[in-house]
Amino acid sequence: AESRSNRAAVQATNDDASASKLSCVKKGYMKDDYVHLFVKRPLRRSPIINRGYFSRWAAFRKLLAQFLESGISSNETAQPKKQILSLGAGFDTTYFQLLDEGKAPFLYVELDFKEVTSKKAAVIENSSQLRDKILGANSSISVEEGQVLSDHYKLLPVDLRDIPKLRDVVSFAGMDPSLPTFIIAECVLIYLDPDSSRAIVNWASKTFSTAVFFLYEQIHPDDAFGHQMIINLESRGCALLSIDASPTLLAKERLFLENGWQRAVAWDMLKVYGSFVDTQEKRRIERLELFDEFEEWHMMQEHYCVTYAVNDAMGIFGDFGFT
Ligand code: SAM
Repeated sequence: AESRSNRAAVQATNDDASASKLSCVKKGYMKDDYVHLFVKRPLRRSPIINRGYFSRWAAFRKLLAQFLESGISSNETAQPKKQILSLGAGFDTTYFQLLDEGKAPFLYVELDFKEVTSKKAAVIENSSQLRDKILGANSSISVEEGQVLSDHYKLLPVDLRDIPKLRDVVSFAGMDPSLPTFIIAECVLIYLDPDSSRAIVNWASKTFSTAVFFLYEQIHPDDAFGHQMIINLESRGCALLSIDASPTLLAKERLFLENGWQRAVAWDMLKVYGSFVDTQEKRRIERLELFDEFEEWHMMQEHYCVTYAVNDAMGIFGDFGFT
């Protein structure tokens, strides 16, 4: 059993994430017309934090774009049906941005604790900017249920550790196990106990035969910087429960390979920023703010990683991945 306070503290990390994203948006690192709707008290983050969030966003968006473009042959114009499942989505606004960019998939499903989905549903209900995007004949918003239902977007409450419930919610949302699926877990699994993390990864692999799992989270808790990272979170009542089970890049890859995934690749964010994020984009954002904390930047980026895992029953992900 977990304490109420840990649950509340983990949920609060979501407010932090939104505030940091807004800080980046205001400085011009990336475009997001919706994140401000979710932030009560805007904060200005340091250049190093802004750059860190940018690198995470850029890597995520580049892999997501590869997924959305995969399996389209040159003589086809119509997008094949695809779906996205965001685990512990928090106040993430990717769906609304993708709509504006004309890139939204057939179905986008977001899951989180009910406390969080209720708040998100309330923000969506109270903002015409968001509400107008999802309202249609079949749509409904319930703040009390923490639920938003529409043809192409669903927001639903669930405790991810309850696999039978997770299975029910995903089928209630209308997800089709045979469709290409992009599963997102950004700073989520690390807060769960290792058995729950493994169970979710395993369930996802068994459920979706043509899928990419995108994982972003902390690694290397054992050196000085990692130790400080853990202490900072603990002082706010959060525990990184899974980190001891997979503290290294190799362990992140193993988490997937030992739980049913065909292919898994883990890179730390130093390498992701250096070798995957677009050079032109880096040139643009590196001019936005004065930046001289190179040593700290290197240390911080070595403590976060992107792992992606691939199951490719349909054979459409041949070119997917880093490089
Ligand atoms: N993925 C979002 C992002 O990157 O902006 C939010 C990240 S936030 C650090 C972690 C989120 O995971 C919180 O919204 C929290 O409520 C959710 N979460 C943690 N444990 C969960 C669980 N057992 N079931 C459902 N959601 C959970």
